[in-house]
Amino acid sequence: MIETDTIWKDSGFDCDHCGGEIAKRIDRETGQPDRTCLQCKQCGCQWTLAGNVERVGNGPDCQAAQRDREAAPRQLTLSRPVWIALGILAFLVLLRFGGFSLLFALLRYLVPLGLVGLVVFYIARHGREQEWW
Ligand SMILES: [Zn+2]
Ligand SMILES: [Zn+2]
Repeated sequence: MIETDTIWKDSGFDCDHCGGEIAKRIDRETGQPDRTCLQCKQCGCQWTLAGNVERVGNGPDCQAAQRDREAAPRQLTLSRPVWIALGILAFLVLLRFGGFSLLFALLRYLVPLGLVGLVVFYIARHGREQEWW
């Protein structure tokens, strides 16, 4: 016989959509591993423990937050070709006016800077996905 059981635990978080209490929801089913997620008791939004949205609630703020999330990756993919184009343009300008010796001198500074920028970019993107801010 299969029994299902749902356990609610206080997560200590408040919902940033409706201000409601967010609870840890543990679904138990006989023969299945526990399924744990976070759920707002008021608007019904559901998140995985990693903070990814699983179910969008019915409140207007929930829908708006979901639209923001869907819009965010699109902005990133749009801006990347622009940055690549700017990089190629800067490269060509450099070649035209400075030649290779200046290019290599600059690369010694640009490569570490570029790596740092890349790391910051990925941390920022990861942070947004995890909704750290
Ligand atoms: Zn809520
Ligand atoms: Zn919500």
